[in-house]
Amino acid sequence: MFNNKISSIITIKVFEYILNHCENKDKISLIKTLDHTYHLMNNYSNIHHPLMIYNPGNDSKLNRTIYDTENTDIYPGQKIIRIENSPECKDIAANEAYNNLGKTYCFYKEIFGRNSIDNKGLNLVATIHYSESYANAFWDNNQMVFGDGIKLYLNRFTSCIDIIAHELTHGVTQYEANLDYAYQSGALNESISDVFGIMVKQFANNQKANESDWLIGQGIFGSKINIHNDPNMAMRSFKHPGTAYPEDEQIDHMDKYEDIPFSKDNGGVHKYSGIPNKAFYLLATALGGYSWERAGKIWYETLTDNRLSNKANFDDFAKLTCDNAQRLFGKSISDVVIYAWNQVGVLGQ
Ligand SMILES: [Zn+2]
Repeated sequence: MFNNKISSIITIKVFEYILNHCENKDKISLIKTLDHTYHLMNNYSNIHHPLMIYNPGNDSKLNRTIYDTENTDIYPGQKIIRIENSPECKDIAANEAYNNLGKTYCFYKEIFGRNSIDNKGLNLVATIHYSESYANAFWDNNQMVFGDGIKLYLNRFTSCIDIIAHELTHGVTQYEANLDYAYQSGALNESISDVFGIMVKQFANNQKANESDWLIGQGIFGSKINIHNDPNMAMRSFKHPGTAYPEDEQIDHMDKYEDIPFSKDNGGVHKYSGIPNKAFYLLATALGGYSWERAGKIWYETLTDNRLSNKANFDDFAKLTCDNAQRLFGKSISDVVIYAWNQVGVLGQ
């Protein structure tokens, strides 16, 4: 009952923070987006307006199409603004979406041999300029949709490659483990999107694990929110969950875990994703080199492991990562995986 949710990048908690720090005249657009986001998370499909008979199709190679809704609510949209192999256009959001979709596709292809989101060559479709002053981006089961953000509060979502890769990875998860978007399986679903999101950012920047900022959504806050232009301000931090912005409520250890109702963040999917995020960060930095070489490979093998159930909890997932680490790299690496989970209070003795 929790599957087929539409995932959006800006969480309700982040919205609430911005709402508390914005001028009255800007509140209307934010409340409109917040309301839409509530409905996305609860799958009220009558609230958003995709063209119902729409299938992006498949290809054996990278195939991107960028649509422009021209600030309407109907997507993918009537106007195609950029297609595969076409030159740069004048619209910066179109070029960012095109380039960042391409880099995400290449990461999955080159590193894991994956043939697009569904591993069957799904064509990549994105819609830009969705609605008016729409401050969010989301994956709608077969395509990406981007709003323009709200000037001075939230920048263009197309500009952050980790945000795009986070959302596309919800598609990968949907085709693989299909983790329920609730409670611990939902937090794993969120964490997996962050883990592959940060790896795509590191891949695009050619950064080793120890060179990364380990931040998701760095640069997304505009000058009225990130007043001092702090480079450490972001939506989430792997290294120090709970410190990405002043009211960040993520936690990094099972000691601080308590059951919360589904009505609140689907049982804590964005709050508790900090725990597996931190475990991945600890593992990748302990192993060194590029994070996708070993830590990422272990995570990918676990995500695509038939034994990973859609209701998996942290312990289930962690056990499978140890098993896959042992199979791929032997006991010494598997021990480092166990140690990383132990440090966040998972797989305790
Ligand atoms: Zn997400």
